[in-house]
Amino acid sequence: MSANRSVRVRMAPSPTGMFHVGSAHTALFNWLFARHHGGVFILRIEDTDRERSTPEAVKTILDGLRWLGLDWDEGPEVGGPHAPYFQSQRRARYQQAAQELLARGLAYRCYTTPEELEQMRAQQRARGIKSPKYDRRHRDLTPQQERAFQAEGRQPVVRFKTPLTGKTGFTDLIRGPIRVDNRELDDFVLLKANGDPTYNFAVVVDDMDMQITHVIRGEDHISNTPKQLLLWRAFGATPPQFAHLPLLLGPDRRKLSKRHGAVNLLDYAAQGYLPEAMFNFLALIGWSPGGGETQEIFRREELVARFRLDQVAKAGAVFDLRKLDAINAVYLRRLSVTELTELCLPYLRRAGLVDETLTPGEREWLEQVMALEQERLKRLEEIVDFTRFFFGEEVEIEERARRQWLTRPGTADLLATLHARLAALTSFTAADIEKVVRGLAEERGLSAAKVIHPTRVAVTGRTVGPGLFELMEVLGQERCSRRLQAAVAVAKGGGLKGGYS
Ligand code: GLU
Repeated sequence: MSANRSVRVRMAPSPTGMFHVGSAHTALFNWLFARHHGGVFILRIEDTDRERSTPEAVKTILDGLRWLGLDWDEGPEVGGPHAPYFQSQRRARYQQAAQELLARGLAYRCYTTPEELEQMRAQQRARGIKSPKYDRRHRDLTPQQERAFQAEGRQPVVRFKTPLTGKTGFTDLIRGPIRVDNRELDDFVLLKANGDPTYNFAVVVDDMDMQITHVIRGEDHISNTPKQLLLWRAFGATPPQFAHLPLLLGPDRRKLSKRHGAVNLLDYAAQGYLPEAMFNFLALIGWSPGGGETQEIFRREELVARFRLDQVAKAGAVFDLRKLDAINAVYLRRLSVTELTELCLPYLRRAGLVDETLTPGEREWLEQVMALEQERLKRLEEIVDFTRFFFGEEVEIEERARRQWLTRPGTADLLATLHARLAALTSFTAADIEKVVRGLAEERGLSAAKVIHPTRVAVTGRTVGPGLFELMEVLGQERCSRRLQAAVAVAKGGGLKGGYS
């Protein structure tokens, strides 16, 4: 890893409402590449779509990047030598760049109206042309013709004079050589009639001004790259290198969409995925450190050290929620109980399980509860469901759990005996409880499981959870006693089905 300030990459999101996990993936790969080379990571906001771009949408992007820990060296809030970093504030620069190409005969004003364009396309389609193109009718207008159109009040767009022959190609750092016939390209628009730049034009002017050395972006932009290369050449500038990342797919290998789950990065934050886990997970989508390793947990610095663009896959970038859960679970287990408690508190408060302020004693008890659940937690939000039975006096017994464990003959008597013995204990630790439960099983000639399961249903209302003896200790003697008693009534058939209060 050598400091190489000459590596300059950028993330150029369009602020249209949310920060998509696909954009986060692109941002992360740019960031890893920049940090690996000691280069510069630039954030540029492509807000030329004035209707859809809002300050809130920009904030969502900044919040998303900050949440993931992707700091930018130039861009909004931090500024930099190539400010402004908002395309909406660079209009004059695009006008000037367009003038330059017009003056050099590399671009032209086109006065074709939207209606005429529509008619042109319809005619081409009628002739069986699948992707109709502008027919270049205004490519070589005389000054008189231009004046005549202007006199009609037509507002021109500025189009690029795409070469009519030859090929344009580049070597993608991930995909290898890509080439297109210039004939397949349109005389694409650079400036719209209202003076707004198009994406392809603004992106080249900005990448040029900001001295971008590597453009790392989604594969959906491959078809734009030849047009952008032609513009770079028209400006007489050396183009950057290009790397097109595979698009994120769902487990069914279709383009990732809401059908597969949340696509908004901050929804994952809300569900209780840790940023370090999301960072780790996203880094391994479409990239692996090679060497046939199966390691999946990487620290941030390790990823920076090992990241290489030529190890990025061309396809198969699957966003697999089960893998994200597994990685997040590892990071959750690594937290101290105090940290975990702190992170879970907002969820517990929102669910009304925990008060705004806690006494030291309450906090200590809560930490014991958290410690019991830490092992099986995959997302912070699960804590509410997992720990609900710890709060309140009574517990609601799930119907399935009741049918499975409280309806067998002898269960009422078994739980009544257990209740009596536990109530008589003068010390109520996990070890004390375990001794009683196992002793009773032995006495009755039952496997320990035959006592443990109905007891778990009695005190938690469900069939799965943390270790029974430990949770009973945390629950406390009184509550266990009350719940066992109530379960005896249910087992006798006297209690309410599926729950009691
Ligand atoms: N605004 C474009 C996007 O969000 C940027 C593409 C590029 O990186 O050139 O897809």
